[in-house]
Amino acid sequence: MPNQILHVGSLTAAPGEKQYGINEFAVGGQPYTLPMWLVNGSAEGPTLVVTGGVHAAEYASIAAALDLGRAIDPATLRGRAIIVPVMNIPAFSARSIYVFPPDGKNLNRVFPGDANGTASQQLAAWVFDRVISQADYYVDLHGGDLVEALVPFTIFFRAGNARVDELSLEMAKVFGIRYLVCSETPGSTFSAASRKGIPSILAESGGQGIWTPDDVGLLTNGLDRLMRHLKMIPGAAPDEAPFTLLEQFLWLRSDHDGFWYPAVPVGAAVRKGQNLGEVKDVEGHVLQTAFSPADGRVLFIVSSLAMNRTDPLLAVGA
Ligand SMILES: [Zn+2]
Repeated sequence: MPNQILHVGSLTAAPGEKQYGINEFAVGGQPYTLPMWLVNGSAEGPTLVVTGGVHAAEYASIAAALDLGRAIDPATLRGRAIIVPVMNIPAFSARSIYVFPPDGKNLNRVFPGDANGTASQQLAAWVFDRVISQADYYVDLHGGDLVEALVPFTIFFRAGNARVDELSLEMAKVFGIRYLVCSETPGSTFSAASRKGIPSILAESGGQGIWTPDDVGLLTNGLDRLMRHLKMIPGAAPDEAPFTLLEQFLWLRSDHDGFWYPAVPVGAAVRKGQNLGEVKDVEGHVLQTAFSPADGRVLFIVSSLAMNRTDPLLAVGA
Protein backbone atom coordinates (compact mmCIF):
# COMPACT_ATOMS: atom_id res chain seq x y z
CA MET A 1 0.00 0.00 0.00
CA PRO A 2 2.04 2.93 -1.24
CA ASN A 3 -0.20 5.86 -0.31
CA GLN A 4 0.71 8.34 2.39
CA ILE A 5 -1.60 9.11 5.30
CA LEU A 6 -4.38 11.49 4.25
CA HIS A 7 -4.86 14.51 6.54
CA VAL A 8 -7.54 17.18 6.71
CA GLY A 9 -7.50 19.31 9.85
CA SER A 10 -7.71 16.95 12.82
CA LEU A 11 -8.80 13.92 10.75
CA THR A 12 -6.57 11.28 9.19
CA ALA A 13 -7.01 8.15 7.09
CA ALA A 14 -4.23 5.61 6.64
CA PRO A 15 -3.82 3.78 3.32
CA GLY A 16 -6.78 1.42 2.83
CA GLU A 17 -8.90 3.33 5.37
CA LYS A 18 -12.12 5.33 5.16
CA GLN A 19 -12.64 7.83 7.93
CA TYR A 20 -15.83 9.77 8.57
CA GLY A 21 -15.41 12.63 11.01
CA ILE A 22 -16.15 16.22 11.90
CA ASN A 23 -13.56 18.96 11.76
CA GLU A 24 -14.06 21.75 14.27
CA PHE A 25 -12.61 25.21 13.78
CA ALA A 26 -13.56 28.85 14.29
CA VAL A 27 -15.53 30.84 11.72
CA GLY A 28 -16.40 34.45 12.50
CA GLY A 29 -15.36 33.89 16.10
CA GLN A 30 -17.85 31.02 16.50
CA PRO A 31 -17.19 27.27 16.54
CA TYR A 32 -17.92 25.61 13.18
CA THR A 33 -18.37 21.88 12.64
CA LEU A 34 -17.80 20.45 9.17
CA PRO A 35 -18.54 16.77 8.46
CA MET A 36 -16.47 14.94 5.84
CA TRP A 37 -15.15 11.63 4.62
CA LEU A 38 -11.48 10.97 4.08
CA VAL A 39 -11.00 7.92 1.88
CA ASN A 40 -7.48 6.67 1.35
CA GLY A 41 -7.32 4.00 -1.35
CA SER A 42 -5.40 0.77 -1.35
CA ALA A 43 -3.39 1.74 -4.42
CA GLU A 44 -1.75 4.89 -5.81
CA GLY A 45 -3.87 7.22 -7.90
CA PRO A 46 -5.21 10.74 -8.11
CA THR A 47 -6.93 12.70 -5.34
CA LEU A 48 -10.56 13.62 -6.04
CA VAL A 49 -12.31 16.26 -3.92
CA VAL A 50 -16.12 16.44 -3.99
CA THR A 51 -18.07 19.17 -2.21
CA GLY A 52 -21.81 19.70 -1.85
CA GLY A 53 -24.10 22.09 -0.06
CA VAL A 54 -22.19 25.31 -0.78
CA HIS A 55 -25.77 26.38 -1.43
CA ALA A 56 -27.46 24.30 1.22
CA ALA A 57 -30.98 24.01 -0.22
CA GLU A 58 -29.68 22.48 -3.46
CA TYR A 59 -30.63 19.07 -2.14
CA ALA A 60 -29.81 16.80 -5.09
CA SER A 61 -26.17 17.88 -4.77
CA ILE A 62 -26.07 17.11 -1.07
CA ALA A 63 -27.86 13.78 -1.50
CA ALA A 64 -25.39 12.78 -4.22
CA ALA A 65 -22.36 13.68 -2.06
CA LEU A 66 -23.87 11.71 0.84
CA ASP A 67 -24.45 8.69 -1.43
CA LEU A 68 -20.84 8.80 -2.62
CA GLY A 69 -19.42 9.20 0.87
CA ARG A 70 -21.50 6.35 2.28
CA ALA A 71 -20.78 3.96 -0.61
CA ILE A 72 -17.15 4.58 -1.54
CA ASP A 73 -14.92 1.63 -0.66
CA PRO A 74 -11.23 2.20 0.12
CA ALA A 75 -10.45 -1.46 -0.68
CA THR A 76 -11.25 -0.90 -4.37
CA LEU A 77 -10.24 2.77 -4.58
CA ARG A 78 -7.15 3.74 -6.50
CA GLY A 79 -6.08 7.14 -5.17
CA ARG A 80 -7.85 9.22 -2.57
CA ALA A 81 -11.12 11.03 -2.11
CA ILE A 82 -12.22 13.78 0.25
CA ILE A 83 -15.99 14.34 0.36
CA VAL A 84 -17.60 17.33 2.11
CA PRO A 85 -21.35 16.77 1.69
CA VAL A 86 -22.67 20.01 3.24
CA MET A 87 -20.28 22.94 3.36
CA ASN A 88 -22.83 25.59 4.35
CA ILE A 89 -24.09 23.99 7.58
CA PRO A 90 -25.92 27.06 9.02
CA ALA A 91 -27.94 27.46 5.80
CA PHE A 92 -28.78 23.75 5.71
CA SER A 93 -30.25 23.88 9.22
CA ALA A 94 -32.13 27.11 8.44
CA ARG A 95 -33.33 25.88 4.99
CA SER A 96 -31.93 29.17 3.77
CA ILE A 97 -31.24 30.10 0.14
CA TYR A 98 -28.31 31.75 -1.67
CA VAL A 99 -26.13 32.92 1.23
CA PHE A 100 -24.01 31.95 4.24
CA PRO A 101 -26.26 33.20 7.08
CA PRO A 102 -23.55 34.41 9.51
CA ASP A 103 -22.47 37.23 7.15
CA GLY A 104 -25.15 37.16 4.44
CA LYS A 105 -22.63 36.56 1.63
CA ASN A 106 -22.90 34.08 -1.22
CA LEU A 107 -20.32 31.42 -0.26
CA ASN A 108 -19.77 30.68 -3.96
CA ARG A 109 -18.50 34.23 -4.57
CA VAL A 110 -15.78 34.40 -1.88
CA PHE A 111 -13.34 31.64 -2.91
CA PRO A 112 -10.42 31.10 -2.43
CA GLY A 113 -11.39 32.88 0.80
CA ASP A 114 -9.50 34.95 3.34
CA ALA A 115 -8.54 33.63 6.79
CA ASN A 116 -8.75 37.22 8.10
CA GLY A 117 -11.99 38.11 6.32
CA THR A 118 -15.65 37.78 7.25
CA ALA A 119 -17.24 34.47 8.27
CA SER A 120 -17.91 33.14 4.74
CA GLN A 121 -14.40 34.12 3.63
CA GLN A 122 -12.91 32.32 6.64
CA LEU A 123 -14.88 29.15 5.90
CA ALA A 124 -13.90 29.32 2.21
CA ALA A 125 -10.22 29.74 3.14
CA TRP A 126 -10.33 26.78 5.52
CA VAL A 127 -11.91 24.52 2.90
CA PHE A 128 -9.78 25.83 0.05
CA ASP A 129 -6.44 25.54 1.86
CA ARG A 130 -7.04 22.21 3.61
CA VAL A 131 -9.38 20.31 1.28
CA ILE A 132 -9.61 21.67 -2.27
CA SER A 133 -5.87 22.35 -2.51
CA GLN A 134 -5.20 18.63 -2.04
CA ALA A 135 -7.18 17.80 -5.20
CA ASP A 136 -5.86 16.60 -8.53
CA TYR A 137 -9.48 16.85 -9.68
CA TYR A 138 -12.29 18.81 -8.06
CA VAL A 139 -16.07 18.51 -8.43
CA ASP A 140 -18.43 20.95 -6.71
CA LEU A 141 -22.06 19.77 -6.72
CA HIS A 142 -24.93 22.25 -7.03
CA GLY A 143 -28.48 22.51 -8.33
CA GLY A 144 -31.34 24.94 -8.53
CA ASP A 145 -31.94 26.60 -5.18
CA LEU A 146 -35.34 26.42 -3.38
CA VAL A 147 -36.66 29.14 -5.70
CA GLU A 148 -34.92 28.03 -8.91
CA ALA A 149 -35.85 25.61 -11.68
CA LEU A 150 -33.05 24.44 -13.94
CA VAL A 151 -32.07 22.07 -16.67
CA PRO A 152 -29.00 20.07 -15.59
CA PHE A 153 -25.69 21.52 -16.73
CA THR A 154 -21.98 21.41 -15.92
CA ILE A 155 -19.82 24.54 -15.69
CA PHE A 156 -16.09 24.71 -16.25
CA PHE A 157 -13.67 27.61 -16.49
CA ARG A 158 -10.73 28.31 -18.78
CA ALA A 159 -8.13 29.82 -16.43
CA GLY A 160 -5.50 30.29 -19.14
CA ASN A 161 -3.45 27.20 -18.36
CA ALA A 162 -3.78 24.91 -21.40
CA ARG A 163 -3.27 21.62 -19.52
CA VAL A 164 -5.71 22.50 -16.71
CA ASP A 165 -8.28 23.98 -19.10
CA GLU A 166 -8.20 20.90 -21.30
CA LEU A 167 -8.64 18.60 -18.30
CA SER A 168 -11.53 20.67 -16.91
CA LEU A 169 -13.36 20.45 -20.24
CA GLU A 170 -12.60 16.72 -20.38
CA MET A 171 -14.05 16.28 -16.87
CA ALA A 172 -17.18 18.17 -17.92
CA LYS A 173 -17.63 15.95 -20.98
CA VAL A 174 -16.97 12.76 -19.01
CA PHE A 175 -19.47 13.74 -16.30
CA GLY A 176 -22.19 13.03 -18.87
CA ILE A 177 -24.65 15.95 -18.47
CA ARG A 178 -25.75 17.35 -21.82
CA TYR A 179 -25.17 21.12 -21.42
CA LEU A 180 -21.59 22.27 -20.77
CA VAL A 181 -21.14 25.94 -19.91
CA CYS A 182 -17.86 27.85 -19.94
CA SER A 183 -18.04 30.52 -17.22
CA GLU A 184 -15.77 32.43 -14.90
CA THR A 185 -18.21 33.25 -12.03
CA PRO A 186 -15.64 35.21 -9.95
CA GLY A 187 -15.10 33.86 -6.44
CA SER A 188 -16.65 30.49 -7.20
CA THR A 189 -15.19 27.22 -5.97
CA PHE A 190 -14.33 25.81 -9.38
CA SER A 191 -12.89 28.98 -10.90
CA ALA A 192 -10.64 29.57 -7.85
CA ALA A 193 -9.47 25.96 -8.03
CA SER A 194 -8.88 26.21 -11.80
CA ARG A 195 -6.76 29.31 -11.24
CA LYS A 196 -4.69 27.33 -8.74
CA GLY A 197 -4.04 24.69 -11.40
CA ILE A 198 -6.65 22.13 -10.34
CA PRO A 199 -8.92 20.78 -13.10
CA SER A 200 -12.45 21.48 -11.82
CA ILE A 201 -16.12 21.41 -12.67
CA LEU A 202 -19.37 22.53 -11.04
CA ALA A 203 -22.34 20.28 -11.85
CA GLU A 204 -25.98 21.32 -11.36
CA SER A 205 -29.04 19.07 -11.06
CA GLY A 206 -32.44 19.32 -9.35
CA GLY A 207 -34.07 22.44 -7.94
CA GLN A 208 -37.03 24.01 -6.11
CA GLY A 209 -36.30 21.84 -3.07
CA ILE A 210 -36.99 18.67 -5.09
CA TRP A 211 -34.38 15.90 -5.23
CA THR A 212 -35.84 12.99 -7.18
CA PRO A 213 -33.83 9.79 -7.69
CA ASP A 214 -33.25 10.97 -11.28
CA ASP A 215 -31.90 14.36 -10.14
CA VAL A 216 -29.55 12.72 -7.63
CA GLY A 217 -28.67 9.90 -10.03
CA LEU A 218 -27.46 12.32 -12.68
CA LEU A 219 -24.81 13.52 -10.21
CA THR A 220 -23.89 10.12 -8.71
CA ASN A 221 -23.70 8.72 -12.24
CA GLY A 222 -21.43 11.60 -13.25
CA LEU A 223 -19.12 10.93 -10.29
CA ASP A 224 -19.08 7.22 -11.12
CA ARG A 225 -18.27 7.98 -14.78
CA LEU A 226 -15.50 10.39 -13.77
CA MET A 227 -13.93 7.95 -11.29
CA ARG A 228 -14.00 5.16 -13.89
CA HIS A 229 -12.46 7.54 -16.44
CA LEU A 230 -9.69 8.37 -13.96
CA LYS A 231 -9.31 4.64 -13.22
CA MET A 232 -9.98 5.34 -9.53
CA ILE A 233 -12.63 2.59 -9.33
CA PRO A 234 -13.06 -0.70 -11.20
CA GLY A 235 -15.14 -0.71 -14.36
CA ALA A 236 -14.91 0.11 -18.03
CA ALA A 237 -14.19 3.62 -19.25
CA PRO A 238 -17.51 5.46 -19.66
CA ASP A 239 -19.15 5.76 -23.09
CA GLU A 240 -18.90 9.15 -24.74
CA ALA A 241 -21.98 11.17 -23.86
CA PRO A 242 -23.54 13.67 -26.29
CA PHE A 243 -22.99 17.28 -25.23
CA THR A 244 -23.80 20.86 -26.23
CA LEU A 245 -21.04 23.37 -25.46
CA LEU A 246 -22.26 26.86 -24.48
CA GLU A 247 -19.52 29.49 -24.36
CA GLN A 248 -21.57 32.16 -22.58
CA PHE A 249 -23.53 32.09 -19.31
CA LEU A 250 -25.66 35.26 -19.39
CA TRP A 251 -27.42 36.19 -16.15
CA LEU A 252 -30.29 38.66 -16.00
CA ARG A 253 -30.98 40.34 -12.67
CA SER A 254 -33.84 42.33 -11.24
CA ASP A 255 -33.50 46.10 -10.91
CA HIS A 256 -36.53 46.23 -8.61
CA ASP A 257 -38.25 44.71 -5.61
CA GLY A 258 -41.50 43.33 -6.99
CA PHE A 259 -43.40 40.41 -8.47
CA TRP A 260 -41.72 38.19 -11.09
CA TYR A 261 -43.74 36.81 -14.01
CA PRO A 262 -41.60 34.52 -16.19
CA ALA A 263 -42.79 34.25 -19.80
CA VAL A 264 -40.90 31.11 -20.77
CA PRO A 265 -40.32 27.72 -19.13
CA VAL A 266 -36.91 26.58 -17.98
CA GLY A 267 -35.03 24.86 -20.79
CA ALA A 268 -36.75 26.97 -23.48
CA ALA A 269 -34.81 27.77 -26.64
CA VAL A 270 -34.98 31.57 -26.94
CA ARG A 271 -34.03 34.25 -29.47
CA LYS A 272 -32.05 37.43 -28.86
CA GLY A 273 -34.46 40.22 -27.83
CA GLN A 274 -37.28 37.83 -26.85
CA ASN A 275 -39.40 38.82 -23.83
CA LEU A 276 -38.48 36.28 -21.12
CA GLY A 277 -40.57 37.76 -18.33
CA GLU A 278 -41.56 40.88 -16.44
CA VAL A 279 -41.11 42.31 -12.97
CA LYS A 280 -44.30 44.11 -11.89
CA ASP A 281 -45.44 46.21 -8.97
CA VAL A 282 -48.54 45.54 -6.84
CA GLU A 283 -50.89 47.22 -9.33
CA GLY A 284 -49.42 45.33 -12.27
CA HIS A 285 -47.30 48.09 -13.79
CA VAL A 286 -44.31 46.61 -15.58
CA LEU A 287 -41.13 47.74 -13.81
CA GLN A 288 -38.73 45.74 -15.96
CA THR A 289 -38.89 43.45 -18.96
CA ALA A 290 -36.23 40.76 -19.24
CA PHE A 291 -35.12 40.50 -22.86
CA SER A 292 -32.95 37.62 -23.96
CA PRO A 293 -29.40 38.90 -24.52
CA ALA A 294 -28.68 36.20 -27.12
CA ASP A 295 -30.01 33.23 -29.02
CA GLY A 296 -29.67 30.38 -26.55
CA ARG A 297 -31.31 28.25 -23.91
CA VAL A 298 -32.79 29.19 -20.52
CA LEU A 299 -30.61 27.17 -18.12
CA PHE A 300 -32.23 28.31 -14.90
CA ILE A 301 -35.15 30.50 -13.98
CA VAL A 302 -36.29 31.86 -10.62
CA SER A 303 -39.67 30.37 -9.83
CA SER A 304 -40.73 32.52 -6.88
CA LEU A 305 -43.24 35.30 -7.40
CA ALA A 306 -41.21 37.26 -4.86
CA MET A 307 -38.37 39.17 -6.48
CA ASN A 308 -35.74 41.39 -4.90
CA ARG A 309 -33.55 44.03 -6.49
CA THR A 310 -30.19 42.55 -7.66
CA ASP A 311 -31.47 38.95 -7.40
CA PRO A 312 -31.14 36.78 -10.50
CA LEU A 313 -34.20 36.38 -12.73
CA LEU A 314 -32.80 33.69 -15.01
CA ALA A 315 -29.75 32.79 -17.06
CA VAL A 316 -29.34 32.06 -20.74
CA GLY A 317 -26.61 29.74 -22.02
CA ALA A 318 -25.46 30.68 -25.51
ZN1 LIG B 1 -25.50 26.57 -6.18
